[in-house]
Amino acid sequence: MKIRSRLTIWYFVVTFLILAIFSYGIFRYMRHLIYQALDRDLTILTNTIERSFDPFLGQFGILQLQTDSIDRFAEFYLVIYDASGLPIYYSFIAQHILLNIPLPVDNLSHPYTLKTRFKEQIPFIKQNDRGEVVFRAISQKLRYQNTPVGWVIIGLPIERMEQSIVSLEKALFLGIIISMIFIGIGGYFLTTRALNPVESIIKKANQIRHTNLKERIQIENPKDELGQLSRTLNSLFERLQSAFENQKQFLSDAAHELKTPLAVLRTHWESELNNPELPLSLKEKFVHDIETITRLNHLINNMLLLSKSEMLESDFESVPVKLNEILNEVVTDASVLAESKLQKIRTTELAEATVKGDAVRLYQLFFNLIDNAIKYSPNESLISISLQVHSPWGIIKVNDNGVGISAEHLPHIFERFYRVQKDRARKTGGSGLGLAICKLITELHGGAIEVESTENQGSTFIVKLPLLS
Ligand code: ADP
Repeated sequence: MKIRSRLTIWYFVVTFLILAIFSYGIFRYMRHLIYQALDRDLTILTNTIERSFDPFLGQFGILQLQTDSIDRFAEFYLVIYDASGLPIYYSFIAQHILLNIPLPVDNLSHPYTLKTRFKEQIPFIKQNDRGEVVFRAISQKLRYQNTPVGWVIIGLPIERMEQSIVSLEKALFLGIIISMIFIGIGGYFLTTRALNPVESIIKKANQIRHTNLKERIQIENPKDELGQLSRTLNSLFERLQSAFENQKQFLSDAAHELKTPLAVLRTHWESELNNPELPLSLKEKFVHDIETITRLNHLINNMLLLSKSEMLESDFESVPVKLNEILNEVVTDASVLAESKLQKIRTTELAEATVKGDAVRLYQLFFNLIDNAIKYSPNESLISISLQVHSPWGIIKVNDNGVGISAEHLPHIFERFYRVQKDRARKTGGSGLGLAICKLITELHGGAIEVESTENQGSTFIVKLPLLS
């Protein structure tokens, strides 16, 4: 899962939890405040009843003031008990409903929230849709100068308040859902914005290769974490670039240094060969040595080319080059080599195609491929060359019926110094740089090279070059 999605989910879950806990807290606190206010009012009434007790008459004076027209407790559920626990007064509501509340033994006031259900309509009472009414009531012992004189159970229907609380609950719930939608969208947007620079850093870092090591990641905010990451990566690229250049410089210097003594050796050996007094056995040895020197020289030239061309792409010419003409030239030259193995090079198709590039390098590219086909095919075999045009590409194929390359080696053969069979390669005079050079030349011309091969059956090298429009 992407960091962006993970962050959004975390952000969403954490915010949801905070909002849910906060809303639940508010909800509970509001209910507590409402009940507290209600309990206070009920306690005041209870105290009023208690204070109205007349010890001489053994009655609660407040009840004497009650008439049908002045009913102080019309809206209340009120039951008053005498000292023996017998009910002596029922309010209008209490005559219709019975709340199951025990009489307390201690002197404390006990609050209750009770739900009761009934069918008939009672004035002052509003049932909910299910015919239920919620009462908040308190039960308390009544005392006169610390002597128990009775009990009271007094309550109020709180359906309306309950409905307000439920409405508050619904409003909070809806608020949470709407907030979560906005938080989800906002969170995704914010994380996307915050992580955008990471994507451009990844893109840039992926683009940087050995050919464009000079490029750097652009730093937008040098002080933030991403700025620091970009700086670290840039300094890594700088170190890589310097190591790479040092290595190429070393390769180039070493190759140059080797070339001169080799040239001296070769001239020396060649002049020795012309000496008529030299015995035949020595002559053969010298010919072999000269061949080795030539191979070494070829290897050094290839190394020089690889080290140089990467440093200076501008070394390459960029002019219109007719591919068919170059191929004809290469086939003519390579046919001489093929003759020594009684092989035939046949051009099956040769379309007219022009590319923009360097004729010398393109010659080298095709020559390497055909040279390989000759080297890695048996005597008397056939090598086929074709050039087709599939606009905007010119497609060159070099096919042989040789030893082929096994699947295990195929992905590596364009790597430098990679040889399938080191001993065989030594016999054929290969160094493992030929295909690396082919790849480089193709890529510098904006093209691509690939190979299809089956072991012991043959190989086809396919070069794709962009045509000059
Ligand atoms: P080399 O100088 O050794 O030929 P290359 O880079 O040209 O180096 O080729 C790398 C390896 O790929 C060779 O050693 C060889 O094993 C294999 N190879 C290249 N061309 C062919 C081919 N036409 N048929 C079979 N194997 C090939």
